[in-house]
Amino acid sequence: MPDMPQTVTYDDDKPHEECGVFGVWNAIDAAALTALGLHALQHRGQEASGIVALSENGKFNAHRGLGLVGDTFSDAKVMSALKGRCAVGHNRYATTGETALRNVQPLFAEFEFGGLAVAHNGNLTNSAALKRALVRRGCLFQSSTDTEVFIHLIAISLYGSVLDRLIDAVKQVQGAYSLIAMYDGALIGARDPMGVRPLVLGRLGGAEGNSWILASETCALDIVGAEFVRDIEPGEVVVIDGQGLRSIRPFGRTASRFCIFEYVYFARPDSIVEGTPVYETRKRIGAELARESAVSADVVVPVPDSGVPSAMGYAVEAGIPFELGIIRNHYVGRTFIEPTDQIRNLGVKLKHSANRPMIEGKRVILVDDSIVRGTTSKKIVEMVRQAGATEVHMRISSPPTTHSCFYGIDTPERRQLMAAQHDVEEMARIIGVDSLAFISLDGLYRALGKPGRDSLKPAYCDACFTGDYAIPLTDWAHEPERIGARSIAAE
Ligand code: SF4
Repeated sequence: MPDMPQTVTYDDDKPHEECGVFGVWNAIDAAALTALGLHALQHRGQEASGIVALSENGKFNAHRGLGLVGDTFSDAKVMSALKGRCAVGHNRYATTGETALRNVQPLFAEFEFGGLAVAHNGNLTNSAALKRALVRRGCLFQSSTDTEVFIHLIAISLYGSVLDRLIDAVKQVQGAYSLIAMYDGALIGARDPMGVRPLVLGRLGGAEGNSWILASETCALDIVGAEFVRDIEPGEVVVIDGQGLRSIRPFGRTASRFCIFEYVYFARPDSIVEGTPVYETRKRIGAELARESAVSADVVVPVPDSGVPSAMGYAVEAGIPFELGIIRNHYVGRTFIEPTDQIRNLGVKLKHSANRPMIEGKRVILVDDSIVRGTTSKKIVEMVRQAGATEVHMRISSPPTTHSCFYGIDTPERRQLMAAQHDVEEMARIIGVDSLAFISLDGLYRALGKPGRDSLKPAYCDACFTGDYAIPLTDWAHEPERIGARSIAAE
């Protein structure tokens, strides 16, 4: 009997971006601007998207759908129903909760003060504990996403104003969050005290005054023609209302631990993250990698697409020609039905194919951004050898991923991470390369303009390379083997 068709995810050997958020205050066609912003943030989540718009008569209208932004918001009828000058949108990649319409954000609820929409990027690390307590108090959860915890904490807060209730809520949660909330009165943006996930502020000038934009990345400001104003700072809450914009610091001034992997892989290369252009940073990371792990070769080949800028930096620094020796098929989509074993065995070729003339008879340096399980790397190396490479060396623009992320990036459990199970030599043998090298942690920090990693005061979250989890992992405290951390924070 033939095998049953299987749906597989081809890029499941990469950490996955978490979510993208976008909000507009005081603009004509706020929902259309939000759809454009979400389109620019599509790389941060492809499973589902949603928009909640606030009309001028105080009515909230929402539309959510599974799939890509273009599919969900291309219908003129859908867009014309999302009337209003304010809107909040969200792209989802599920880090908690299954993929179902009930989990698609922005979440919306009616409170005694009126409606409130919330969109959240990140992952709460005490949401299970909070949820248990909230359910005991009678709260009925409609979804399985951790974002709903905010809704219930706001609902039961004893504070009077919406803003005070929201601040009361953020003070109770632990984890990484960049969130945008909207009610009939204000648009609010907030980042967790360590600012792990990004959130930027932009402005659109118009005849009717300023429009304000909040977004995960600057590429979403660019697409709507907004100017970048500044990053929302770690622990900052900004309130945008009829009086303008004001900043509140419920946690005081806090030290940043921004996600270092945003520079390596997650952020779009044309974004400026925490004041640093991502594209140039990736080139600098590649140059640092070349200085740390030089090898004689004929050609530097990126594993597309995210390995391209670092491979360019590597090639320039090493003085070795850069060639697109692997071509990526952009039209595979995230999943593909594999009907038979034979087709399944073709594996990676659906997404990547070797550009034989650039590889045949050459000593190749492959540059990629990370190795998670190692399964895709192995297939790519096989493909490059089959195309006639005489030597294959792999260089990785991040340190070995030895720990899972609990702060909003979907990584496999620790036991599935190749670098958690094997040393670099073993990894090289399993993947089938002549040599394998990762950028060092200090080298990565140097590429970001720091002298190296200050272990007493690290400038970034780098827990997936170090196990140094700066935010308590309350919900996993009873699973030390899953965390494998040097420091498991207490409840
Ligand atoms: Fe980013 Fe890694 Fe920290 Fe997760 S653990 S926030 S991926 S640096």
